[in-house]
Amino acid sequence: MPRVAVVGGGVSGLSVVWYLLSSGVRDVVLFERKTRLGGKAFTLEEDGYIVEAGPNGFLDNKPFAMDLCKSIGLGESLYPSSDSARKRFLLINNSLVEIPISPVSFFKSPLVSWKAKFRLFLEPFVPKTSAEDETVFDFVKRRLGCEFASLLVDSMVAGVFAGNSRRLSMKAAFPVLWDLEQKYGGLIKGMFSLMRERKSKGGPAGPGGKLWSLEKGVGQLINALYRKIKDAVDIRISQRVIHIRKEKVWEVYTDKGVESFNAVVLSLPAYEAAYLLGEYPRLRGLLSRIDYAPITVVALGFDKKDIDHSLDGFGFLVPASEGKQILGCLWDSSIFPNRAPKGKVLLRAMLAGDRQPEVFEYPDDLSVKTVLDVLDGIMGIRSFPNKVWVFRHSKGIPQYRLGHVELVNAIETEGKSLGGLFFCSNAYRGVGLNDCVGSAARVSREVVHYLEGEWSP
Ligand SMILES: Cc1cc2nc3c(=O)[nH]c(=O)nc-3n(C[C@H](O)[C@H](O)[C@H](O)COP(=O)(O)OP(=O)(O)OC[C@H]3O[C@@H](n4cnc5c(N)ncnc54)[C@H](O)[C@@H]3O)c2cc1C
Repeated sequence: MPRVAVVGGGVSGLSVVWYLLSSGVRDVVLFERKTRLGGKAFTLEEDGYIVEAGPNGFLDNKPFAMDLCKSIGLGESLYPSSDSARKRFLLINNSLVEIPISPVSFFKSPLVSWKAKFRLFLEPFVPKTSAEDETVFDFVKRRLGCEFASLLVDSMVAGVFAGNSRRLSMKAAFPVLWDLEQKYGGLIKGMFSLMRERKSKGGPAGPGGKLWSLEKGVGQLINALYRKIKDAVDIRISQRVIHIRKEKVWEVYTDKGVESFNAVVLSLPAYEAAYLLGEYPRLRGLLSRIDYAPITVVALGFDKKDIDHSLDGFGFLVPASEGKQILGCLWDSSIFPNRAPKGKVLLRAMLAGDRQPEVFEYPDDLSVKTVLDVLDGIMGIRSFPNKVWVFRHSKGIPQYRLGHVELVNAIETEGKSLGGLFFCSNAYRGVGLNDCVGSAARVSREVVHYLEGEWSP
């Protein structure tokens, strides 16, 4: 029976294992270097708070994470974000301004100037680019104007990627919007065509989607995946893979010895995959080109009465032009009300990112003070929080630079040329939980196909 090694026990690796088992591949070993599974996805329960160190949910505009939850028996535990979480804010001149979500509210909103609003009417007449790729900032500036690019989109990129819109690839980071332009000639034309197609064929709602999580947080997904696979798979916690090489089959070296496998799936950050593949300089070079932004998450538990703000909404993002050291703040207990005990609230602020990586070097107390200073100026903080947590992700989120799509194609082609080497993590084709789960389903099908071709009796 062919053996498969899955290296890395984050959402991507665990999902690969689950899909391999579901396809009938039985001899699977999962290697995870840390003492716990989940990678960036980690939920802490303390004093009635449910606190996320990393992701706090997934959108339903793609089906992958939702379908996975249902298929592993978490259907009843799915937890929708509250209706008020549809309200999102931007920090403008140190005040929170609601981001409009309907055309009428958009035209009434003070968020952008009248010039910027009327600039939108020109969008259908902007020709599509013939460039192979473009930064997010340049794409949005060209299609929608400079104000949109520097306010809304710059903040959104900081919120999703902890990234810098002037350095991120539109084609890789927002492939749906890139394709709208390529296929339909523009965003507005494309949206209308998609809406018509969806109406006739059915399918998921608009591009935004609703945020979902699980009652006990994203960690519940990790625990459920673990329970589903633990009796069928050899799970090696606290075992770091240090090197892999191909002879007739793949040899996987750990600090405990060497083992042979017919196929290997690297569900690791790209820099770690590069390290393991030291014998393959070209592949190693390609993988090393994917860099990462650091991110610090400061979570704060307050008595509700100590905050002079309704916290009615999702939270706010901070455009670079505000000159603050935080990227934004999520009002977690407004999004998912059970995240804080009665009478308390939970907020989570993000710092550093590709915009200000040096802020990651702040010690914990300075990170907390930085957040409190910003929040106090906006929301009126009357007392020090009663709970504080700081989570650090030194290589938090991969940054898809210009040419990322071609880079990933080259990495996958090199992997295939070696035979039996696969890549599946957030480094390649999307950073969201949905993307990780969707990639895991696709990669596990490729593994099965490879094993059937090469190793069937
Ligand atoms: C602060 C933050 C907030 C986020 N918020 C959201 C959100 O709200 N919604 C959303 O959809 N996404 C969000 N994301 C993104 C999402 O969390 C990640 O993209 C996803 O969890 C990545 O999963 P992964 O399995 O690809 O990688 P990882 O989680 O990085 O897992 C890789 C695993 O490999 C292990 N490993 C590394 N090297 C070795 C080795 N040599 N041998 C064995 N094991 C090894 C690591 O210990 C780790 O467990 C967020 C990310 C961060 C950092």
